[in-house]
Amino acid sequence: MKLTPHARFSTICLHAGQEPDPATGAIITPIYQTSTYVQEELGKHKGYEYGRTQNPTRMAVERNIAAIEGGKAGFAFASGMAAIGAIATLLKAGDHVVVSDNTYGGTFRLFDKVLTRSQLSFSYVDTSKLDLVERAITPATRMLFVETPSNPMMTLTDLRAAADLAHRHNVRLVVDNTFASPYIQRPIEFGADIVTHSTTKYLNGHSDSIGGIVIAVRDDDIEWLKFIQNAAGAILGPFDSWLVLRGTKTLPLRMIQHNANGLALAQFLAAHPKVRHVNYPGLPSHPQHDLAKRQMRGFGGMLSFDLGSLEAARRVLNSVRLHALAESLGGVETLISHPATMTHASVPAAHRAALGITDGLVRISAGIEDIDDLREDLAQALDKV
Ligand SMILES: *Cc1c(COP(=O)(O)O)cnc(C)c1O
Repeated sequence: MKLTPHARFSTICLHAGQEPDPATGAIITPIYQTSTYVQEELGKHKGYEYGRTQNPTRMAVERNIAAIEGGKAGFAFASGMAAIGAIATLLKAGDHVVVSDNTYGGTFRLFDKVLTRSQLSFSYVDTSKLDLVERAITPATRMLFVETPSNPMMTLTDLRAAADLAHRHNVRLVVDNTFASPYIQRPIEFGADIVTHSTTKYLNGHSDSIGGIVIAVRDDDIEWLKFIQNAAGAILGPFDSWLVLRGTKTLPLRMIQHNANGLALAQFLAAHPKVRHVNYPGLPSHPQHDLAKRQMRGFGGMLSFDLGSLEAARRVLNSVRLHALAESLGGVETLISHPATMTHASVPAAHRAALGITDGLVRISAGIEDIDDLREDLAQALDKV
């Protein structure tokens, strides 16, 4: 199970960061459910002192996802938000960040309600328009924080151009790659300095764990992230680390099916008379379809569509049987949600309207069920409108 330097993506997902257990030969990395490690004699240990600082299961998933993203090191946290919080500690009072304007609601809340108290400032701009990003950069800007595709409008940011722009201004590019997954895009290949994920979504993939990860390439960032992970202590526990490690083994297979089902549902909805508009980067009608073809491998399992009114959206959401009405995304089950009242309820109404998050907008996270069952379910729900 030694990986060659040119091992391909699926092989890396399965094997990177993992050795058969040195004690037993167990092929699967065990769940090292322990708080401390016995030392042989004073000052002599096996590299493990205390469970917050080092844990073999967590370190395996960190090495695994770092390899999957093409980064140098990874740090796993108790949630996606804890991971983003750790990234924010790279900043100091007075620093400024440019952020995608329809960033994940929890990220906006952390930046706007918590970090502004520590004299950090944030500008929210449409990062699909890099001239707007450039105009928002000030001498205090240290970070450009991008999500592509964005949630739930599926707007893309050109990662290579964003990295070039950021680096021209001596700014770090941080990419929240949760929505796409590293099967679809690997931001470090385009020049990103830091990639983060809510592992809760595609990386774990089975809707049974909350977690987050930060992947870095710069040595100074790696040193700080390792320090803050131990100093602040929001680590991913051994059992959740094991679940995510199990999830990444099937990431490529799952993503192939998420891609296929996402595209098929987008096409079905785009042709349906009761649907006003579909947001999906795989449709030629998407304004950035060409960029999607350049920087994404497939177009993902996330899509949103507008039914014109809250009443129509309510009918569909209350009539689906196979689609589960729930927040979150990236699991093997298909989920359906209403951004205006669910995931984006904390975004002020005027800001929601400016982003295009209307009351008739419905979001789907396409799972890996048989596509005919998903289409039939949506068809019968749309009949009720
Ligand atoms: C879910 C999500 C997060 C937050 O992750 P948690 O694991 O819920 O804390 C951050 N960014 C994006 C894009 C997400 O979808």
